This record gives sequence, structure tokens and C-alpha cells, in this order.
Amino acid sequence: MNIAIDGPAGAGKSSIARLVAKEMSFIYVDTGAMFRTMAYYFLKNGIDTSDEETVNTGCDRIDIRIEYQNDDQHIFLNGTDVSNEIRQEEVGKNASVVARYNKVRAKLLELQRQMAASYDVIMDGRDIGTVVLPDAEVKIFLTASSGVRAKRRYNELRQKGIDCNLKEIERDIIARDEQDMNREIAPLKQAEDAVLVDTSDMTIDEVVERIKNIAGRKKS
Ligand code: C5P
Repeated sequence: MNIAIDGPAGAGKSSIARLVAKEMSFIYVDTGAMFRTMAYYFLKNGIDTSDEETVNTGCDRIDIRIEYQNDDQHIFLNGTDVSNEIRQEEVGKNASVVARYNKVRAKLLELQRQMAASYDVIMDGRDIGTVVLPDAEVKIFLTASSGVRAKRRYNELRQKGIDCNLKEIERDIIARDEQDMNREIAPLKQAEDAVLVDTSDMTIDEVVERIKNIAGRKKS
């Protein structure tokens, strides 16, 4: 059984998916991390991510591997664990830029489908229900207002001791959503058969319960 979770930046997809995976004994696959790893390679190698041709050439030099350690996804770029490095805001922004390119998406699509064919997965991203796993048994579109999403990200960063500005975070989130929704290939959108869950006024536990209920009904 596969569960697809899509939605905009900062909707809480990864925290929720990780908890649901643990409770249902599924494997959690974070596809955003894959796009971030590609972007991280380009940034580290001084490749301008807005130059599609150079990015395409660079794609052939990238090997991405996923490993699980204590149920946690670790992502390896050409043999090095980059799971922490890819969390930077700059990497996220550039991930959204390279995610527009066909070659980048095609490379990752193969890996994503292989994982879903091998395990029971709960996979989160932008196009999982629409493109990657159109036959997933459960599809959720997780969203929240941009204000709530920005506040959550702001609190997260502040907790880590990182100085940040709420207005700037909200502006970045809106810009990234615009870019993800308006690209030609695999844009962010709700699949027709996905259940919409707006988490603006919900706690994490409530969202986890909701998704487990939806999945439970499908299972029986
Ligand atoms: O979810 P996360 O913020 O880690 O994703 C980073 C970027 O990767 C997104 O803004 C989006 O452009 C891209 N992405 C995508 N398709 C996915 C997952 C992520 O295009 N399935």
C-alpha cells in the first residue's frame, strides 16, 4: 500500500508523514530531499541553477542513494551523507528552480517509483498523487494558510537559534509555491482523488489521526 502526501512548502508534510510512517510501519520517503540534494550539488560546484543546459550536463555526475538509519531517511550525494546540509533555505530555493527541469525530474522519478514498488511507502512531495504514484491507494493534499506556514517555519528556525524575519519567510514561501504551482512539468496541484486536509487550525496529533483514519478505511 502506498500513501501520497502533496502540498505547499511548510504545510507540515514531513513531520506528519514521519509520524504516520512510524505508527503504520511504513517507510517514509521525503522526495523534497532528493531535489534539494541535486540543488546542493549545483550550488557546491558553482553551477548556475537558472542555466538548464549546464544543469542537465551536471545531472549525469550525480548519484543519489537513500538509506534508513533508525527509521530516519539519510540521503547520500556521490557517497557522502548530505542530510543536514540540504536543509538550508538557500538549498530549498534552488531546489524549486531545478525542479522545473525535465532531466532533473526524470532522474528522480525513477528512484521514487522504485522505492514505492519495493516497500509500503508514505511519500511526500508536490506531484506524488498526480505523477509519481497516480495509483496510490491513499492521496492526501495537505495545506495551511501561508501565514500559519510561515509562523511554523519561523518558530522552528528560532528554536534552532537561527535569526530570521517572519515577513521574509512568508514572502519566500509564497514565491516558492508560485514557482511550484506554475511550472510546466508536474506542477504542485491537488489530485482529483486526493483528500484535502487544511491543517491551519489542527494540531500535529489531530492531523496524524485524520490520515490514519483515511488510510484505515481504504485498507479494510
Ligand atoms: O519539500 P521541500 O521543501 O523539501 O522541497 C523542495 C523543493 O523541491 C520544492 O519547492 C519543489 O520545487 C521541489 N519538489 C518537487 N517535487 C517533489 C518534491 C519537491 O518539485 N515531489
